[in-house]
Amino acid sequence: MALIVQKYGGTSLAHADNFKHVARRVAALRDQGHDVVVVVSARGDTTDELLGLALEITPEPDERELDLLLSTGEMVSCALLAMALKALSKEAVSLTGLQAGILTDKAHSKARITGVDPGRIQRELKRGQIVIVAGFQGVTTDMDVTTLGRGGSDTTAVALAARLKAGRCEIYTDVEGVYTADPRIVPEARRLQDIGYEEMLELATYGAKVLHPRAAELGLLYDIPILVASTFVEGPGTLVCKGVTMEAENKVRGIAHDLDVAKITMRGVPDRPGIAAAIFEPLAQANISVDTIVQNASLENVTDLTFTVAKGDLTKAMKVVDKRAKQVGFKQVLADGTLGKVSIVGTGMQHTPGYASKMFRALSDAGVNIHLITTSEVRITCIVDGAKVPLAVRALHEAFELAKPQ
Ligand code: ADP
Ligand code: ASP
Ligand code: MG
Repeated sequence: MALIVQKYGGTSLAHADNFKHVARRVAALRDQGHDVVVVVSARGDTTDELLGLALEITPEPDERELDLLLSTGEMVSCALLAMALKALSKEAVSLTGLQAGILTDKAHSKARITGVDPGRIQRELKRGQIVIVAGFQGVTTDMDVTTLGRGGSDTTAVALAARLKAGRCEIYTDVEGVYTADPRIVPEARRLQDIGYEEMLELATYGAKVLHPRAAELGLLYDIPILVASTFVEGPGTLVCKGVTMEAENKVRGIAHDLDVAKITMRGVPDRPGIAAAIFEPLAQANISVDTIVQNASLENVTDLTFTVAKGDLTKAMKVVDKRAKQVGFKQVLADGTLGKVSIVGTGMQHTPGYASKMFRALSDAGVNIHLITTSEVRITCIVDGAKVPLAVRALHEAFELAKPQ
């Protein structure tokens, strides 16, 4: 009898009928004799609605209280799914992140799982229960509730699969797998049969929200194959795993996009040792992740410095930078929250010239202006106007012929 960890996303759990559908799927798995742990997300747009409510109360909600508020969305789902299973005469128990033993660090709103105490889940499984766990949340050593970042229920599922030594983790969502680009933007995008952890991690980190980046990272670390498939349509899905065959011809595996990008530019920054550290150290201390950083060549010992952060961190980052402006002595700070990122990703691009130029040509032909460019060994990213992102994704999908079966 194998242990299977499944996760159902919010889009699969919007209405009562969806809970009944998921309960029937889970019950069928149990009837096959498996031990089953199910991780659930908040229903539909619940997390956004709760966030909106908090912002109506105050523009800068306290992080600890916000995490407690947002964690309730997943608790609603896990109670409802347990009820739906009991209505089918199945033994089921719902557990919050705390009850399920999900331990995290203290970084509210983007906490990382530091460990899983599996005792309660194991006891419930031994009693023959189907265990339903509220995703996206954990608890610190001080017993404060934390959340894992948007989309974080995927990570709860992979962490549980790793700790409970499940053979694999199944992520059920509203699309039939991982595609060459977001199928909502590129209708002709192709489902990938499989994809390596590194490529999935890069796609997810750069915006492909079909899987949370930390879930891909934990899959890689603990070698847990992750199946991404549809809640509603039977099909093979996409297996995220190691040992995936390289595609011979086209070395771009997929295109990711992200509209959650804000840019901060500091003009007239004195060019002397220690300035970058003076700016980026307090940002790190404030737990703000900085992505792209570009420093212009200096003219008469004065330079411009630009970096990007998530939109949700813009106000906090501006406060930090404004404070430093006086100490470091730069002339002007500008913020722009209307940008987006498009990235091409593929491990096969390494050491092969021509990908960047092809990307820039495709964007230019589509009339998309590039603000900033960053690269890694397996990725090229362009920061462009947010409104142009869908156009850019479609242009790149076509230029790299990703709709063609490889
Ligand atoms: P869930 O609620 O199940 O967690 P998400 O909305 O977080 O679902 O993720 C699924 C969505 O991810 C899809 O509806 C799709 O629009 C989007 N997506 C973005 N990039 C991709 C991609 N490369 N392949 C598949 N889906 C993608
Ligand atoms: N409910 C959370 C979100 O909307 C977590 C998740 O769905 O995985 O981001
Ligand atoms: Mg998700």
